[in-house]
Amino acid sequence: MKPAGLPIWMGDAASALREAAQLFAEISDSPRLDAELLMAHVLQIERSELLLKLPALTVPSEFAALVERRQRSEPIAHIIGRKEFWGLDFQVTADVLIPRPDSELLIEEAVRLFASTHPQRILDLGTGSGALVLAALHEFPEARGLGMDASAAALQIAHNNADALGLADRASFLLLDWCQPDWTGSLGSGFDLILANPPYVASGVRLSADVADFEPHQALFAGEQGLDDYAIIIPALEKLLSPGGAALLEIGFDQANPVSEMATKSGYHVELKQDLGKNDRLLILRR
Ligand code: GLN
Repeated sequence: MKPAGLPIWMGDAASALREAAQLFAEISDSPRLDAELLMAHVLQIERSELLLKLPALTVPSEFAALVERRQRSEPIAHIIGRKEFWGLDFQVTADVLIPRPDSELLIEEAVRLFASTHPQRILDLGTGSGALVLAALHEFPEARGLGMDASAAALQIAHNNADALGLADRASFLLLDWCQPDWTGSLGSGFDLILANPPYVASGVRLSADVADFEPHQALFAGEQGLDDYAIIIPALEKLLSPGGAALLEIGFDQANPVSEMATKSGYHVELKQDLGKNDRLLILRR
């Protein structure tokens, strides 16, 4: 227990965690976890170690400032500069979408689809932090991967992540904007696995403050219905996919019908998958 009269952030770490979690309850769905991640970050230890040693720890002086940032809805991933995705550690800044647990479904399904025939060439459209292509390369040690993005700042992060994860020799990245005509020209063709988590939020949707105020709108919003980027990507798949290849597209929970329709019209067989929250989240497109 913290001695009476001491400021909140000067006592033992366990009390400070409880205080922080209470403050975060107003702005976060995972207040206790948030507090633990911030505390582990300032102590420069893993969260598991924090939990083990907690009774013996006192609050580091930097903790209070981080708590204040989180109270203003800044994402934990931005404050600590990292986010775990598919069990791998990714550098994250405000230049990239923070990898979501829901997007792990794309990797899970890629592993299922390519259980016997491993993909040789992987393409990630709108790679951002590189999370999808790098997680896929981690799973498929024979494969080479290409991540494209319209943001040079994002590609720098993707590069850093490829280096840090020891995947740089099999990963390349390309600055490319699919809003430009002939954008597929420099990508080549024959990709066995295409992954994409494009922007898919409808322009009128009000996102929570931690997303709307901190994450790149370029990676989130896609026109009035959130479908603009699928309308570009789906017609381009024909040129990019190898004959037996599959494209895995993340979709918004209410977009299975319109996006499936686009894909069917382009001649694809479409399979719909749901995420852990039972929301429609992924379409698998094959010839
Ligand atoms: N799933 C994200 C969100 O709801 C949106 C990601 C995207 O547009 N690709 O914030």
